[in-house]
Amino acid sequence: MKYVTRFVVVVASVSQLMCQSLSAQERPTAHHYFSKTPHEHIAHWSYTGKNGPEFWGILDPSFRLASSGKQQSPIDIKSAKAKASELPALKFDYRIERMAAINNGHTIQHNGEPGSFLVVGDKRYSLEQYHVHTPSEHTLDGKQFDLEIHFVHKTKSGEVAVVGVFVQADEKAEIDIPLSYDLPTKPGERVELESARNPSDFLPPSREYFTYAGSFTTPPCTEQIRWYVMKQPIGVPPKVLERFVAILKSNNRPVQNLYDRVVEKSK
Ligand SMILES: [Zn+2]
Repeated sequence: MKYVTRFVVVVASVSQLMCQSLSAQERPTAHHYFSKTPHEHIAHWSYTGKNGPEFWGILDPSFRLASSGKQQSPIDIKSAKAKASELPALKFDYRIERMAAINNGHTIQHNGEPGSFLVVGDKRYSLEQYHVHTPSEHTLDGKQFDLEIHFVHKTKSGEVAVVGVFVQADEKAEIDIPLSYDLPTKPGERVELESARNPSDFLPPSREYFTYAGSFTTPPCTEQIRWYVMKQPIGVPPKVLERFVAILKSNNRPVQNLYDRVVEKSK
């Protein structure tokens, strides 16, 4: 077995996680995506019911962009309408990292060690964490994929770029995304992974992408996020996907209006 659970600890109760009050912060890097522990996570929103996505914008003044923003994510990417452009290559300078998987009540987030970077043109972003949504948040020509991985990056000056990778079930796939380690099943649970791995294992072979100006897909739905959505999905065995779905159910925000934004695609 390649990945062995070293230990599992429950660091916060569900009620602690769900009832913290929110401080109004609008800088992208103030988002909970940059929290390293479930303790810091703020959660009084959800994916269903009266705190669900259609109400996020009125749950808290700092969430208002969720309903009033004109650059919200995710979106349906219409490949034929995307503007073919000379775009910089995405250079994934990811390295093998030791990982901790955290269930923060909304997703399973993997925090690695510092030292992995995404380079786009003259911008150098550090990889902060990656996490998953089931099913996918972005759709491609109306098609929703089984899962979407978000790799969250930031520059030293606080610019944020997220790389989205579509994942679909594939019986023949050899990738073993956390097939053999115990996923953190309950909010507040953290699993330290004994073996290190390279996050680039979860990138598709093709580096072609769509890009647009968007937002985080969770409250406060902060804008000025540069999105890179990889064109090619990766495949994982259905039994891996089933494990994520069993824990996360549905944690996808519905697609948002594109308004006057232009989606570009690499040639
Ligand atoms: Zn996400």
